[in-house]
Amino acid sequence: MTHHLTKPLLGCIADDFTGATDLANNLVRAGMRTVQTIGVPTDNQAIDADAIVVALKSRTIPAKDAIAQSLQAYAWLKAQGVEQIYFKYCSTFDSTPQGNIGPVTEALMDAMDGPGKGFTIVCPAFPENNRTIFKGHLFVGDVLLSDSGMRNHPLTPMTDANLVRVMQAQTKRKVGLIDHTTMAKGTQAIADKIKQLEADGVGVAIVDATSNEDLKTLGPALKGMPLVTAGSGVAIGLPGNWGLQSSAQAAALPAPAGYQAIVSGSCSLATQAQVANYISMGLPSWQFKPLNWTTQDVPAQIKADVQAALAWAHPLLAQGPVLVYATTDADTLQKVQAKFGREQAGEWMESALAQVCIGLQAMGVKQWVIAGGETSGACVQALNITQMQIGPQIDPGVPWCFAPQHTAGHLTLKSGNFGTPDFFTKALKVLAETAA
Ligand code: ADP
Repeated sequence: MTHHLTKPLLGCIADDFTGATDLANNLVRAGMRTVQTIGVPTDNQAIDADAIVVALKSRTIPAKDAIAQSLQAYAWLKAQGVEQIYFKYCSTFDSTPQGNIGPVTEALMDAMDGPGKGFTIVCPAFPENNRTIFKGHLFVGDVLLSDSGMRNHPLTPMTDANLVRVMQAQTKRKVGLIDHTTMAKGTQAIADKIKQLEADGVGVAIVDATSNEDLKTLGPALKGMPLVTAGSGVAIGLPGNWGLQSSAQAAALPAPAGYQAIVSGSCSLATQAQVANYISMGLPSWQFKPLNWTTQDVPAQIKADVQAALAWAHPLLAQGPVLVYATTDADTLQKVQAKFGREQAGEWMESALAQVCIGLQAMGVKQWVIAGGETSGACVQALNITQMQIGPQIDPGVPWCFAPQHTAGHLTLKSGNFGTPDFFTKALKVLAETAA
């Protein structure tokens, strides 16, 4: 399959890594060939995609740093020629009165030029994932955001579900609402409402959405709007604005090559079940046992363990996938954390698994299943991956990716509680079956 190098149409700025993948996954499913970059690329090399998602880690950093990084991403995306900017945040609107959603939105609006730059929408809704907005109030499942677990979040406790109020506390511009009665009347009514709100001096409008249909009705009304701010859901209505439709083509990746490895550092229940399921199939696995480490010179013991894991894996790779894991039950995890300290234990395990990745890469592994959010970050960094083309979905929110500029090959990054128990073997099967 050949295609011309296309100019990217949609440029996205995501405030965290897994959120970026979630958005990219939706864009691909709706028909856009999508590349995700880890941070703002340092070069201006053209990227062959319909949409680019720049993954930042700006959700909970000081607002001024979030603004600076977002503006840097904006400038880079504009230099790529994108026609519309999409600022992506969490579907539970994770933020505080100090930011960062409001301040970043305003900074991006200030940076815009051209018609329509004085107005944007705010819509974290994603009904498919049980995030809905009614009369400006965000619901998580059946309860208001403020009655959900988010009220006790350690970094961004959400104690008010009224998004007009939440956003107004973070914004100098006037905040308005496009409510469900307008949504029910269709795209033209939404477009008319936007004009009316602009005339009334509103700069930012919350948008009600209680179904995926609402998001599809909203999409065409956003055509030509320089900046859209939203969760990942609104993305499903945008590709049509460029005549793109849902197709398997958008998710096409090159054929897989090389050996297969699964690297797991997640201790979430779903991952524990996935490790157990894989082992129960009689497939080869190697486990890190940090409780065996003495507290003296841990890095040297990690190095020895990594060597042992690699020596174990080497003769097996030609026969099929190998699993190297640190995953353990809550009880053992607690003991390890008590022995070494919670943060230090996590850092050491991440470093160990990252070193395993480097060793396996040198042996020719090019198909990676990596489990754990933080673990993925450490492994992607170790593999020197800065860009990923997004491919077919394995389980909701978890797509295959391909790192084109490196020898890393194909990878899927599965955070915590995602995926069915057979995820590891299923993922490799999906890749073998769907890649070109
Ligand atoms: P998840 O997506 O499930 O939260 P993460 O990779 O984000 O997974 O977080 C898991 C953390 O636990 C990582 O910092 C990892 O290094 C650490 N960890 C994994 N296994 C062990 C273990 N056996 N002992 C101590 N820490 C561990």
